Amino acid sequence: MEPQAIIDAVKDSSIRGRGGAGFPTGMKWSFMSPPDGGPRYLVVNADESEPGTCKDVPLMMANPHALIEGVIISSYAIGCEHAFIYLRGEVVHVYRRLLRAVEEARAAGYLGTNVGGKGVTVDITVHAGAGAYICGEETALLDSLEGRRGQPRLKPPFPGAAGLYARPTSVNNVESIASVPGIILEGADWFKGMGTEKSTGFGIFSLSGHVAHPGQFEAPLGITMRELIDLAGGMRGGRRLKFWTPGGSSTPIFTEEHLDVPLDFDSVAAAGSMLGTRALQVFDETVSVVRAVARWTDFYAHESCGKCTPCREGTWWLRQIMNRIENGQGTQDDIDKLVDICDNILGRSFCALGDAATSPITSAVQYFREEFEAGMHTPAHELFPPEKSVLF
Ligand code: NAD
Ligand code: SF4
Repeated sequence: MEPQAIIDAVKDSSIRGRGGAGFPTGMKWSFMSPPDGGPRYLVVNADESEPGTCKDVPLMMANPHALIEGVIISSYAIGCEHAFIYLRGEVVHVYRRLLRAVEEARAAGYLGTNVGGKGVTVDITVHAGAGAYICGEETALLDSLEGRRGQPRLKPPFPGAAGLYARPTSVNNVESIASVPGIILEGADWFKGMGTEKSTGFGIFSLSGHVAHPGQFEAPLGITMRELIDLAGGMRGGRRLKFWTPGGSSTPIFTEEHLDVPLDFDSVAAAGSMLGTRALQVFDETVSVVRAVARWTDFYAHESCGKCTPCREGTWWLRQIMNRIENGQGTQDDIDKLVDICDNILGRSFCALGDAATSPITSAVQYFREEFEAGMHTPAHELFPPEKSVLF
């Protein structure tokens, strides 16, 4: 196939990016600046770090060659001769597996200067990051890959115009690229035959928390949480669901009333949250929502890169107030102050991390305000003793 035919097939499949934002993959490729004889890059974002997300790591462990085959085909399509896989630094076992798989592909003639005997050049460098959540943001990732401190860049220019080493670059998630061989082999209609009209195909849903059998479930987009909990053997110990995240902690939480929302990009957005990374964390009735949200807030305050004031200062303040409420030492105006600080972070931060820090707080206040009010006099560990959440 000619490169353009591959881009057209991926466009026709309507696959949307699997890293969380759901930007159409084929469109991202076609937005790259036209070839000018200089280098162009494909960078696979394997810096999976969103709390609760565990889909790319199992995919790379189970079948690293699905990703490598995707990288080869995608690189050929966009005119890239040197692709990078930027991997989360802590997952050393995945790093070893990818290095080995790249060597196997090279030995079999699928990488190098004459791929498949067709005179095509494609090589892959696997790079392990140093464990900063912000390096999953595509432009911070590019800075980190260039050897700088990982902090987001101003967009535009988007990476398609000026990315790695200021050259046209496509940054795509592991699962998006690993889906490309299937689309090319089986055709765009096969892919579109699954999922919904605007969220085509399938994806990996990672279920964790209080279900009988947590794990990864590959399913068409549009499946519901009720169906997924059934696939996971139901709630652990027959307990009742209290709240859950549709796409990791960066997305507003859902409750029992959202169990039948189709898990596709548009339906989840219409219900007030985001599909994100399909990191479905399940919390039962024994869990303090205040304590869960306080841990996430600690995480965002720790991972804020410090570049912009609303996020750097705001997450620090959110953390102080959340910890006060968790310890039963909240004050009368703490809830209003929390919501006010969130309002001042949302939409005023340089990248998505600042906005993300506010989502669990504002949605938890919306659904469980009484638990926050209780935090003015009673510590969360007295209302919800942690030992009662544990079931073995
Ligand atoms: P975004 O919507 O700004 O961008 C998504 C992608 O589309 C980017 O690659 C961007 O370059 C491209 N894009 C957007 N507009 C474009 C345009 N006009 N022209 C060309 N390209 C364009 O989202 P983001 O800030 O990159 O990512 C936020 C998402 O990341 C969240 O939805 C969250 O779910 C996800 N996330 C994932 C993880 C993880 O571990 N996988 C961690 C944190 C967050
Ligand atoms: Fe850094 Fe937070 Fe600003 Fe993003 S929003 S640039 S993580 S300080």
